[in-house]
Amino acid sequence: MEFCKPLVTLVSDFHLDEKGMAEVAAKYGADRWFNEQYTPENDVSDSEFLIEFMARSCYKSFGVGLNPNVTKVREGNAEYLANVIDSGHGSVLEHIQLNFMFQDVSRVFTHELVRHRPGVAISQESLRYVRLTDLKCFDFPRLKSELTDEEEEWFRAIVKRTFEYLESVQDEMTDKFNLNNEESFARKKKLTSRMRRLAPIGLLTNIGWSANFRTLRHVIPLRTSKAAEEEIRWVFADVGEMCKRKYPNIFFDMEWNSDDDGTGLGEWKIIPKRIRDLNKFLSINFKENMYILYMGKTAIFSHTNRFVVNCLYDNISIELRRWGA
Ligand SMILES: Cc1cc2nc3c(=O)[nH]c(=O)nc-3n(C[C@H](O)[C@H](O)[C@H](O)COP(=O)(O)OP(=O)(O)OC[C@H]3O[C@@H](n4cnc5c(N)ncnc54)[C@H](O)[C@@H]3O)c2cc1C
Repeated sequence: MEFCKPLVTLVSDFHLDEKGMAEVAAKYGADRWFNEQYTPENDVSDSEFLIEFMARSCYKSFGVGLNPNVTKVREGNAEYLANVIDSGHGSVLEHIQLNFMFQDVSRVFTHELVRHRPGVAISQESLRYVRLTDLKCFDFPRLKSELTDEEEEWFRAIVKRTFEYLESVQDEMTDKFNLNNEESFARKKKLTSRMRRLAPIGLLTNIGWSANFRTLRHVIPLRTSKAAEEEIRWVFADVGEMCKRKYPNIFFDMEWNSDDDGTGLGEWKIIPKRIRDLNKFLSINFKENMYILYMGKTAIFSHTNRFVVNCLYDNISIELRRWGA
């Protein structure tokens, strides 16, 4: 019996067929755009480039002059994708699918994961075929506010004892049915299938999960939210980190808020455009003992000396404190 943390691996990396793309771009009259943009200096992943290409192909907006209706175009991958995403054109994000392997995740986790349906493909380890030998369990982060150290130790001990007992039950059935000497795969499968019913839902297993960018943008915030279960939060914290690092223009509006409780957990949040705009326009000035909070050019609050401002606007909370004169 072993306690393990889930292992999250991104096992794919999409590459453009440069020759094919160049041919298509030329037919659109967009060869200049392609040659200028698809360069090693332009630090954009092939996935992000493809999404930009597909989106621009809808309006022939590779540059001015290709479509007489278009008199100006957004320049660059980051600006273009931000506008596509802010406008809600989610279907373009479905062109790219990422492939993850989640190892040492429980059946609690996989049961929650498979509730997300559109834009995914799943290959789950079959416990009808794969016979259980060592049973592993999620290495729980400490619940500092809910359990004392003594209660945590007690809980880990009872998990260990139960898993070891259930491991011994699997061994006992293997011996009784003489499975190690069995020739017939059909018999082994039938019995393995029956035996798995005596395994705990918390046992660790593996699942391959593929999801397109649109689905990822939906699932990562949902499954890292404080309301979600700790193991799925753990996994999707990693998934979010990988997505943000590798595809910054697709996940430009996703921000990490740590729980700050030592568990390493936190929430990935998509910050809506209206909130990002508000942040951009907010500025705070301090002048002769007076604080002024600006939104754009409008001063929305001012006060003197020793004050607290709590400005609540949607999810934003701004707190200014100045103690003493
Ligand atoms: C914190 C948390 C607690 C939960 N607790 C429970 C629980 O106690 N019991 C339980 O049963 N489940 C629970 N769930 C699972 C939850 O009910 C959903 O099944 C899961 O989150 C997936 O829902 P989704 O709407 O995001 O669908 P997804 O399958 O991820 O679909 C993504 C989006 O696609 C669209 N879509 C998908 N299918 C359709 C359709 N048929 N028609 C129209 N639009 C569609 C919707 O906009 C949807 O939001 C929980 C989930 C979370 C995050």
